Amino acid sequence: MRNALADRDETQTVDVAIIGGGLVGASLALALAPLIERFDLKVAVIEAAALDGSDTRSYQPSFDERASAIAYGSRRHFEAMGIWSQLAERAGNIHHIHISQRGHLGTTRLSRDDVHLPALGHVLPNAWLGRVLHERLATLSLQWHCPTRVDRIEPQPGGHQLTLDSGIVLNAGLTVLADGGRSPLKQQLGIETDVHHFGQHALIANVETGRDHQGWAFERFTPEGPMALLPLTSRRMALIWTREPEAAEQLARMAPSPFLHTLQQQFGDRLGRFRKLGTRQLYPLSTARAREQSRPHLAILGNAAHALHPVAGQGFNLALRGAMTLRDTLTDHLAEGKAPGSAAMMREFERRRGADRDLIMPASNSLVTLFEHQWPGLGHLRGAGLAGLEVSAPLKRLVTRRAMGLFHRRG
Ligand SMILES: Cc1cc2nc3c(=O)[nH]c(=O)nc-3n(C[C@H](O)[C@H](O)[C@H](O)COP(=O)(O)OP(=O)(O)OC[C@H]3O[C@@H](n4cnc5c(N)ncnc54)[C@H](O)[C@@H]3O)c2cc1C
Repeated sequence: MRNALADRDETQTVDVAIIGGGLVGASLALALAPLIERFDLKVAVIEAAALDGSDTRSYQPSFDERASAIAYGSRRHFEAMGIWSQLAERAGNIHHIHISQRGHLGTTRLSRDDVHLPALGHVLPNAWLGRVLHERLATLSLQWHCPTRVDRIEPQPGGHQLTLDSGIVLNAGLTVLADGGRSPLKQQLGIETDVHHFGQHALIANVETGRDHQGWAFERFTPEGPMALLPLTSRRMALIWTREPEAAEQLARMAPSPFLHTLQQQFGDRLGRFRKLGTRQLYPLSTARAREQSRPHLAILGNAAHALHPVAGQGFNLALRGAMTLRDTLTDHLAEGKAPGSAAMMREFERRRGADRDLIMPASNSLVTLFEHQWPGLGHLRGAGLAGLEVSAPLKRLVTRRAMGLFHRRG
């Protein structure tokens, strides 16, 4: 990785410019490594936030205290990038998923045995994922502009021109916007985003449990909002607790012991007594979707393209599949001697990616709204739905494989 700070006041040309070195931009850059070698592809990554190389947590929005549920399909992508064995050092393993609804009978259990794989998925601390990604990026032959912000993006024949706050101007054949949910660059291009605020906050914290979680992840729907407990290493679990903003803020302010007591009341005793509590953080929740997901010479990925409710843990997994589809489409076009980012390439990218995104986005949202509504009788219907899933083996296998992100196909 060549730090481009030395090359100020220059105009440079690259094949691919990735704006944003967060979870999605950094993963894409790493996935492009074989293309850098095979096609002598010139890649630049521009990341606004400073990274010190050892501990990214205090600098980088992607790599904060959160942990992400990584589907088994995402693990395979990280294996292909050659970083899974390092990531696995701090990954929790999801062997079973327990989905329940407070006050109703139906529950469903998904298990790795249903799909004959070593795990349904994993739980990775974001800070660890960021550190491993950036360490590996440092070994690649690409331009790394950091801390550097892209101030302007302008279309030009054959691509876009990017003006960096370092004084460098980049001309790129394919530009990837992976600059997160607040992307002002999308606005500069006139791309609007539809946003729906859920009126909920997610409270995130790590908790220690009295009993070993034995690889169980729990999704529990309550009238006040869904909660998830995801297995980290040993007896630690990552809590994602969704509540209305005022209630969430109250929970965030509570002293640790009444907080753990309230959690215990909501969750029950399956994991023994909750003990230690880590730092609590709040995230206002919304779902968003850019009205255009690609244009000639432009791909939009990650939160810049779509944000989902975290209840189904699909946001990053979906974005990673989008990044892999972009890599595959680019590979095919380069192999045919075509330039990166052409209108034909971007149409093909959209054709390959659209079905996955158009299935996962509404499915995640309807999961939230289904459990949000309080109509009489609906709770029992939902319970029956969960129970139905429990007895229908083929349906369960289908849901499990979809949740594991095992539907990424090349083309
Ligand atoms: C509470 C919560 C829990 C979640 N849990 C899960 C989960 O379990 N599983 C899952 O799959 N997903 C989960 N998600 C979703 C997941 O976190 C997101 O999909 C992911 O963080 C998106 O990453 P990103 O790289 O697109 O955006 P970001 O993380 O926002 O990164 C964007 C990057 O771009 C940089 N940038 C911005 N503007 C510029 C500019 N002009 N120039 C240069 N750089 C710029 C920023 O500094 C930043 O580093 C969760 C989300 C939330 C809120």
